[in-house]
Amino acid sequence: MAKIESVCVFCGSRVGDGPARRALAAETGRLIAEAGMRTVYGGGHVGLMGVLADAALEAGGEVIGVIPEFLHEREVMHSGLTELVVTPSMHERKAEMHARSDAFLVLPGGIGTLDEVAEALSWISLDLHRKPVILVDRAFWSPLSHLLSEMERAGFLSPDLLDDTAFVETAGEALALLAELGGRD
Ligand code: AMP
Repeated sequence: MAKIESVCVFCGSRVGDGPARRALAAETGRLIAEAGMRTVYGGGHVGLMGVLADAALEAGGEVIGVIPEFLHEREVMHSGLTELVVTPSMHERKAEMHARSDAFLVLPGGIGTLDEVAEALSWISLDLHRKPVILVDRAFWSPLSHLLSEMERAGFLSPDLLDDTAFVETAGEALALLAELGGRD
């Protein structure tokens, strides 16, 4: 696998419950920046997305936001990013986020986040990419982990689909795993 230079982060456009969620998003942004990697994300200034971007920028990292035009028009984008890419639609936005990143980190979020992680996994099964998908916060993602295990047990997944997918507890573990995967041939 090539060196991981850009990490796409999917996470909630809301902050969710309790301060631990914000802390996880902030730590993720900071650690990506401190590792010298670029953050690619949905471009918003709201929810965990905004917390992530602010923390990565504050730590001196590059942050690329990719936002569809209709959200840009609503002015919900982050105005202090290294680069803001505006796409005609949600579909082009996701394609652009995929094209600009070497790995995916998934933090807690809602339906948008679930859609994004499902697409990243489904594109692996279609051989469109082999980028790692790392879901952070085991308790939050445990229902998805169980569903994927059941799909696998029942024979609905390609056998190697989950080879580069991992569920970890902390942002630190996610970054350690990225460092390991990025150093692999
Ligand atoms: P959710 O997990 O449902 O909060 O959705 C996260 C996703 O919502 C993001 O990646 C975007 O697709 C979308 N989204 C919602 N609000 C915004 C916003 N203000 N700026 C950018 N993307 C947003």
